Amino acid sequence: MRTYQLIAPAKINLYLEIIGDRLDGYHELVMILQSIELSDRLEIRSNGTQDINLHCNHPLVPVDQTNIAYRAAQLMLEQFPQAFANYGGVDITINKQIPVAAGLAGGSTDGAAVLVGLNLLWELGLTIPQLQRLGEKLGSDVPFCVSGGTAIATGRGEKLDPIQDLDNLWLVLAKYNNLSVSTPWAYKTYKQQFGESYINDTTGIQSRTSQLHSGPFVQAISHKEGQKIGNLLHNDLEKVVLPEYPQVAQLKEILQQAGGLGTMMSGSGPTVFTLCQSQTEAETIKKIARKKIEDPNLEFWVTKLSSNGISIMDEQ
Ligand code: ATP
Repeated sequence: MRTYQLIAPAKINLYLEIIGDRLDGYHELVMILQSIELSDRLEIRSNGTQDINLHCNHPLVPVDQTNIAYRAAQLMLEQFPQAFANYGGVDITINKQIPVAAGLAGGSTDGAAVLVGLNLLWELGLTIPQLQRLGEKLGSDVPFCVSGGTAIATGRGEKLDPIQDLDNLWLVLAKYNNLSVSTPWAYKTYKQQFGESYINDTTGIQSRTSQLHSGPFVQAISHKEGQKIGNLLHNDLEKVVLPEYPQVAQLKEILQQAGGLGTMMSGSGPTVFTLCQSQTEAETIKKIARKKIEDPNLEFWVTKLSSNGISIMDEQ
């Protein structure tokens, strides 16, 4: 039986605007999503049993049905019973490199990798859009994680419109490993505080989406203008997360003062990133921030923007 090794990249939000709420309980969003090179590694192989076995090297990641990778395998089993009957169950091993509960879609990208991996292992021949439609059932970020790169995401984040790939910039990510922010809490609090300004009519939502499409941010991306991109970074969730988590607000301020093209919290946080022109600049900013905040719980990663979604590292 073959074994597939997959690379599952994290993502950051270069832009996150909350437009309104939806009947399904989610929010109507307009975002620019961006893959980064910081990635989990997954190994997927048939095990000749009827079971899904999940292993992960990270103590905070569950290895039961609550893991998105496990749910992805379950979904494929349900959708393709004939393939399951032919090939049997799977062993999935996650080598976690992406910080957990960090606003970097670590779980979603593992789920996306299992969809891609089982498509190969079971020789299903599903296309990327077909895999993305399955991914929607697992979580709003999963369809993006399948294809990766740079994309405008609307709806609850599952409707994607790829734009010019942006892979020339570096970034430094910083996160307190003893801090996590609940995504449902962040959206609920945002609604309590800013719900009055929500737009919920289709025309209004479409108009916000087309404003982003034809606006300066997408233009700056298509011309790869790093400084303009840095100036235009935006995340509505900062309005509720930063006041509640002063440590994150202070981290953002220190990173901002240390230089780079622009600093922003990713998703619902608490990870903060600074975009940089070069690896050297990112390493310098990391050093400055590390000196200013001497907290052993503060972790840094220097990585690069990436144009890749899930990719195959090895097939045996
Ligand atoms: P997003 O940006 O999509 O909101 P996140 O980066 O904030 O996600 P995750 O790392 O995906 O957060 O983890 C959120 C929670 O999901 C974790 O606390 C963990 O209990 C659970 N989880 C389930 N599957 C995974 C997985 N494969 N990797 C990491 N966490 C997982």
